[in-house]
Amino acid sequence: MKLLRIIIDGREFEAEEGMSVLQVARSNGIRIPTICYHEALKPIGACKLCGVEVRGRTGKPRILLSCILRAREGLEVKTRSELAIKTRTSAFRNLLAMAPQSKFIRNLAEEYNIDLGPTADGCIRCRLCVRVCKEIVGAGALKMEKRKGIRYVTPTEGLCIGCGTCVNLCPTGAIQMTDKDGNRIISIRNETVGVHALERCEACGRYFASQKFIKHVQVLTSEHTDVKEHHLYCPTCAKLFSTRIKSFSRIKR
Ligand code: SF4
Repeated sequence: MKLLRIIIDGREFEAEEGMSVLQVARSNGIRIPTICYHEALKPIGACKLCGVEVRGRTGKPRILLSCILRAREGLEVKTRSELAIKTRTSAFRNLLAMAPQSKFIRNLAEEYNIDLGPTADGCIRCRLCVRVCKEIVGAGALKMEKRKGIRYVTPTEGLCIGCGTCVNLCPTGAIQMTDKDGNRIISIRNETVGVHALERCEACGRYFASQKFIKHVQVLTSEHTDVKEHHLYCPTCAKLFSTRIKSFSRIKR
C-alpha cells in the first residue's frame, strides 16, 4: 500500500492513499468535530463542522471539509487556525439555529471552546424593559447581569412595583405577567421579578393595578389634586367619569 506524508497543525504524519484528512487526523489523536460523519457511511459534508484551513494554488488560505478532503503528498492543513475556528463557529451557529433545543450541539461546541452566545431564552437583549423600568417607572427593578459569562436580564429583589410596563414593552414576550386570585406575578424565564397584591376598581370592582403601583402613582402625582380621585378607578371607569364630568360642566355653562 502506498504511503504518503501530510502535515497537520505543523506535524508530519503518514497516511495511506485514499484516506481522508479527517481519518488521518483522528487516527493520530487530532480532534476535529463532526456530527454528520459516520465511519460506516460515505461522507457528505452536511454539518460543515470539520472544515480545515488549506493553502490554495495561489497561496490564499481557504476552508475545505476534512471528511471529504483526501490526503495527498505534502498537503498541509490547519485545524485550529483563526479562519478554521471562525468557519467552525459559524457552522455550529447554523446548526443551532435549526435545532435550538439541542444540548448535543451546545455540549460539542463547548468541548471545542466554540462560543455560541446565549442559550435561546426568548430575550433578545434589547434592554427596553431595563431602561423603561429605570427611566420612566423609576423602580430600577431590572438589570443586566453576567452569569457564567452570558448577559441576562435579571431582577433586583424587592424593587418591582408590578406596573407591567416592561411586559407591555417587551417585543418578544420574554417577560410575563400573570394576574390570578388577586395577585400579579411578573417573571422572566423561570425567575420571579415580583409578586403583588392587586387593587379593585372602586367603580366596577375589577382588579386593575397592583397596590404598590397605585401608591407609587399617588406619591408621584401628589401635587396634582385634580387627578387624585382617579387613582382608585380602572382606566375604563376613569375615562368614563372624566367624560361625564366634561359633559356636565358643558351643560352647566
Ligand atoms: S413590572 Fe416591575 S420590573 Fe416591570 S417595569 Fe414595572 S416595576 Fe419594573
